[in-house]
Amino acid sequence: MIRLPRATSLAHDWVRARLRPGATAIDATAGNGHDTAFLAQLVGPQGRVIAFDIQAQAIAATRDRLESLGMLDRVSLRQESHEAIATVGALDVAMFNLGYCPGGDKAIVTLPGSTERALEAATAGLSPGGLITVVCYPGHPGGREEADAVVDWTRRLPADVFRAMRCEMLVIQGDPPPFVIGIERL
Ligand code: SAM
Repeated sequence: MIRLPRATSLAHDWVRARLRPGATAIDATAGNGHDTAFLAQLVGPQGRVIAFDIQAQAIAATRDRLESLGMLDRVSLRQESHEAIATVGALDVAMFNLGYCPGGDKAIVTLPGSTERALEAATAGLSPGGLITVVCYPGHPGGREEADAVVDWTRRLPADVFRAMRCEMLVIQGDPPPFVIGIERL
């Protein structure tokens, strides 16, 4: 049976279809390292992943995961805010998975101002044909404001340089559903 995909699965599908071996990818919110490992697998030994998180615990968990998978050599882990994407230069893919770290401190969340500045930096460095994915979670305190800010920010991108779309469940049990935004540079 084909199930409707979760927002995080859609983000993975879009990235998988685009990211090539040898590419440069950003995980803007490393958390438990699942997305960093996913990106590291796709870019291969010649590629590069730069993963950001403000929490030492998240950076340590991501390091352990990548080490156990034998892919730490292609990953740079940076314990700082993702606004520092501005220092990376050209990039092919950036994944943002907003909100709090599952299993971690739910009070430590991504915030609209720094998320917007990080998105500015990511779009500035994005290669032609490159892709940014943003999974937004309107269900936690502050999450709706951040999700709205990200949508508003995305709508202001110049249409002669970028295309962007949003995919969202309309009916789901529980919290307001997460949604995913994809931004591609033409
Ligand atoms: N991508 C992760 C994974 O695969 O496990 C999940 C990410 S989790 C939903 C969100 C993460 O964003 C948290 O670990 C949190 O510490 C981090 N975060 C919050 N503010 C941040 C910031 N300004 N810069 C970078 N990371 C931040």
